[in-house]
Amino acid sequence: MRQKIVAGNWKMNNNLDESKSLVKKVAKSIKKNKLKNTRVIVAPTFVSLEKVANKAKGTKVEVAAQNMHFAKNGAFTGEISAEMLKSVGVEIVILGHSERREYFGETDEMLAKKVDAALENKMEVIFCFGEVLEDRKSGNHFNVVESQIKNGLYHLEAKDWKNIILAYEPVWAIGTGETASPEQAQEMHAFIRKIVADEYNDDVSENVSILYGGSVKPNNAQEIFGKPDVDGGLIGGAALNKDDFKAIIDAI
Ligand code: PEP
Repeated sequence: MRQKIVAGNWKMNNNLDESKSLVKKVAKSIKKNKLKNTRVIVAPTFVSLEKVANKAKGTKVEVAAQNMHFAKNGAFTGEISAEMLKSVGVEIVILGHSERREYFGETDEMLAKKVDAALENKMEVIFCFGEVLEDRKSGNHFNVVESQIKNGLYHLEAKDWKNIILAYEPVWAIGTGETASPEQAQEMHAFIRKIVADEYNDDVSENVSILYGGSVKPNNAQEIFGKPDVDGGLIGGAALNKDDFKAIIDAI
């Protein structure tokens, strides 16, 4: 079912104590909110995942990993598998973040394999994609987004999509303070829903949650979340501050 979701990507920030403290504050702040149909997710670094997942137990906060490898195990120094994430209580993983694509060379092909590994382990995937500024300027943004979704996800069967959350993150808006306008976000989200309907069916496309990410802040969240095809946000910088994150959750 299509859900409202606010997910905070903490990236390479917060040591263990800071992570535990932040998740506690986030959980406390949203308890009072009486959030019924909104999911709140935080994604700490690997080293804090287990402790944060434990702290989040019994609260409204769910915990995601920021990445994982596609292999089950083996000679992949520095990597973590889906099974390992599950073993510490993590059932959601962010895949394809533009920083992973840009700085760590993650390709569509690798991401398709990671998606498969996550789904085989019954995990939910927050699948990120989005165009760079040159693509937007040259009007190629729809093609780029379509090809990222196609290459990463179209090999899945319709039934698999219940465990997929899409996150449209125009790269030019990530961490730059520049946001897509609510109209630009809506235009792209509607396009995504259309291509998913064309490839699968209306049921899949109407039920998939599509998050917007890229400099969402307390002062612009409400307008962006107010658009009909925007089901929430993937939040970077503002997720590191409990008051800002709470204000963004309140805006949904
Ligand atoms: C992100 O990294 O997913 C992100 C959206 O970051 P920010 O909110 O800081 O732009």
